[in-house]
Formats: sequence, structure tokens, C-alpha cells
Amino acid sequence: MFRISQYLREIAQAEKTGVYPSPIGRHVSGQGAAESALPGGRGLAAQGAGAVGIQKPGPVVIWNLIRRCNLTCKHCYALSADHEYEGELSREEVFTVMDDLKAYRVPVLILSGGEPLLRPDIFEIAQRSRDMGFYTGLSTNGTLIDEPMADRVAAMGFNYVGISLDGLRETHDKFRRLEGAFDRSLAAVHLLHERGVKVGLRFTMTAMNAHDLPALLDLMRTEQVDKFYFSHLNYAGRGNIHRGKDAQFQATRDALDMLIERAWDAAQRGLDEEYVTGNNDADGPYLLNWVEARFPQWAPMLRERLVAWGGNSSGVNVANIDNLGHVHPDTMWWHHKLGDVRERPFSAIWSDTSEPLMAGLKAKPRAVKGRCAVCKHFDICGGNTRVRAQQLTGDAWAEDPGCYFTDEEIGATAGSDATRLTMEPVSGKRRVVAIHLEENTHV
Ligand code: SF4
Repeated sequence: MFRISQYLREIAQAEKTGVYPSPIGRHVSGQGAAESALPGGRGLAAQGAGAVGIQKPGPVVIWNLIRRCNLTCKHCYALSADHEYEGELSREEVFTVMDDLKAYRVPVLILSGGEPLLRPDIFEIAQRSRDMGFYTGLSTNGTLIDEPMADRVAAMGFNYVGISLDGLRETHDKFRRLEGAFDRSLAAVHLLHERGVKVGLRFTMTAMNAHDLPALLDLMRTEQVDKFYFSHLNYAGRGNIHRGKDAQFQATRDALDMLIERAWDAAQRGLDEEYVTGNNDADGPYLLNWVEARFPQWAPMLRERLVAWGGNSSGVNVANIDNLGHVHPDTMWWHHKLGDVRERPFSAIWSDTSEPLMAGLKAKPRAVKGRCAVCKHFDICGGNTRVRAQQLTGDAWAEDPGCYFTDEEIGATAGSDATRLTMEPVSGKRRVVAIHLEENTHV
């Protein structure tokens, strides 16, 4: 996750006081579901790694507790549907895993699905998570949150609830394949907001819904939503099948410009609005470019801050456990299983760098190739999202084809190893590559 608002608040403060602020409010970086203001995370991990007597925290865990969903969204990475799935972790198994996660110093659990509210024991799991001191988030489509459910969610004391909204009414209902889904999700936002629950909107942009972004940002402000999470489309599940419709680079840049301007406006006015992005760590250098153009005096300090953030953290500071107990580097890697919590504790799986992908993701720096290898922003971006490279080329260490920078912007010179991969629409095809296909039960 990339926290635009956090960095722009620092710039706003520097503009006001003439002094660039010290690092504050350490936050988790990673992907979408960890969309909350957190008391720990990568900053804490970075501190802990070098500090005597302080143990490094475990990763933020995004936990898909159930695959069943009442919707069948076009970009769903879990390819969920409204029926039971065999072999999901029982409540007792979930509790056993939670004990291990706690001992491994995991700070945050994001309870997700499918639709997590369809799991009959979701509130028991959430209660235990709260009691154990995990920062507990809920990631939901919101359509099941009526007044009684809003009361339960509020009473549970979730630290954060993220609700997906992929456009205005017509667009969203089409995306979600359910008439009335928009009204129900927006009603959920109202109901939770009335009850004092911290709520965020989650928007995954494609060419099919990019036109609704300005209106959604307006909606965020009028509804006084705490956070706007902008997710770049990644290549997993239905997102993979639909990647031929991925927004073009210019549309992505336009969207980022809009988000940055909104976040800057909020930072200057002291508004309590949070703008974050996910699934494209090139957003870090993109923000740096924006600041360099407007406030060049603060750019070196921001650059330092962004290098400390370090870009993509899949397999390092963000982890995923699926409904069957399989562990993945993040939610977009469901076709690659690192291990099974029924066979080995999560802590053992996560620490095991004999697994090649895990070793590569944990390498510092990652051994990326192509444009990423020659990029001047690599120390900020970290080579971006490896699953996109793997899905397009079969090589998880190839350049990220989702990078929207030009060769000139990344400092690639003629004759360097910077030839951009071409993206081909694959709608209608099953997959481009077949790595670990025998394990791929979700695509
Ligand atoms: S070329 Fe690679 S490392 Fe550089 S900004 Fe793009 S994705 Fe990041």
C-alpha cells in the first residue's frame, strides 16, 4: 500500500513550518486489504530489524476466511461464487492459526473473503482477534450490512471496515453483477458511519470504470468517508481474465494526478481524509516526481522517506492465508502455494526461504530484470508487483508490465536492457503461462 496522504501531510507541514517533519505514524505497507491507519507495520519492522532487544513484527495477514460470496464481481481474484466450498478451515483451526500468528508477532488481521459476513462464525473469530490484541479489519462488499448487521459490526469494534465501490450506480452494479448492489453498499457506508465505525471505500480501476473516479471522490467527501483506497488492477482471478481491459497507462497517470491533487487539497485544509493506493509501487516515484515539480526543496527528504518505505512488500510484510489454509505471498498469488497451515505453522512457512519464490521476494534487493533492473527508481519501488511479471512472462523476476513510466522517466538509455514487454489481451484464453498449474485450483 502506498500512503499518498501521509507523505503530502508531511510536505504541507514542511511548507507551513519550514522544517521537514521527523518520521511519524509508522504504517504498514502492502496491498489493499491492509487499508487502515496502523500502529505498527513496515516502519516498525524496519526499526525492529536493527534495534537491540526489539523483535521484528510479523507481516500483516490478509485472511480469506471464506470463498463463498453473494456476488461474482468481474475482477474478483478469488473467483468466488454463491455456494459452499469444501475443505475450508474450521473455527478451531482458525483459532490454532491465530495463536501461531500472535506468537509470530503478526500485528494485523484483515478478515476477508469471498464475503466474510457469510461465514457463520465470523463474529466469534473477530472477537477472538480483538481479544488477542490484533488490529482487526473487515473487508466486505457491504451488501449484507443492514441495520442489525451494522449494529453487530459496530459492537464488535473492528478497527476498520473497507467496502468496495467500483463506480457509480450503473457501473458498480454491472461490475458486481447485481442490480441494487451500489445502493446497498452505500447504505452500509451510511449505517456504519452513523455508528462511528471507521470506513473506507475501495476502488479497483479498469478502463470500464475509470470515468467514474471523479464522482466517486466527490462522493467520498460528501459522505465523509475516512479513506479512499485506489487499487490498480492486478493479474489474478477474474482480474487476470480481464486484464486486456486494464486501464491504459495514461488513464492510470490521470487517475493518480487526480488522487494526488485531492490528497494535497485535503492536507492543506487539514481535512481528515486518507488517500492510499495499492498494487502498483511505481506510485512512490510518481509522487516524488509531483513533489519535485512543485516543491523541489522537499524532494530529497521525501525521497529518503520513500526509500525507507521500499516499495513492494509481498512475501515480506504482507501475507495471505486462503480459505483452505494455504499460505501465499499476497492475495494475488493464489496460484502459488507456499505451504498449508494444516501441515506446518504459518510462522514456519513464512520463515522458510528454501522455497524459491519466497527466497526471491525476501532477497534485498530483489533480483529483478528488464526495465526494473536499470530503473533509477528501483530503490523506491522495489521492482513493483511480481505477480504481474509472472503472469505475463512466466518469469516472476521480469519487469513489471504494469509500470506506467516511460524509458526516459526511469533513466533507461538506448541500448540498455529496457525494452518494454508488450501486453496482450487474454480475454477468452485461460492463461498465458502455466507456472505451478497443478496447484492452481482457483483459476
Ligand atoms: S521500471 Fe520497475 S522499478 Fe522502475 S518504477 Fe517501473 S516498476 Fe518500478
